Amino acid sequence: MPPNYIHGGMPMTTPQRKIIDCRLFPSEKNCTLAISGTEEEVLDLAVLHAETVHGHTKTPELREQIRSLLKDEAGTKAAGA
Ligand SMILES: [Zn+2]
Repeated sequence: MPPNYIHGGMPMTTPQRKIIDCRLFPSEKNCTLAISGTEEEVLDLAVLHAETVHGHTKTPELREQIRSLLKDEAGTKAAGA
């Protein structure tokens, strides 16, 4: 049996990280915040941010709207070339 190192520490693969850039939102605050992490992490924080900073109402629709604006973090790097 091979050593079971995968379950003993850090996973060998990490979930695809997503990034959301607040500049993509229509906003009067000129907010430049970017949040990156797993999709659920980004969504949780982005909804909170939209609610507390931008005054949006926290609804399932808001969460889905934010989800549609997520980008793959790796893709953003390639696009900058
Ligand atoms: Zn913002």
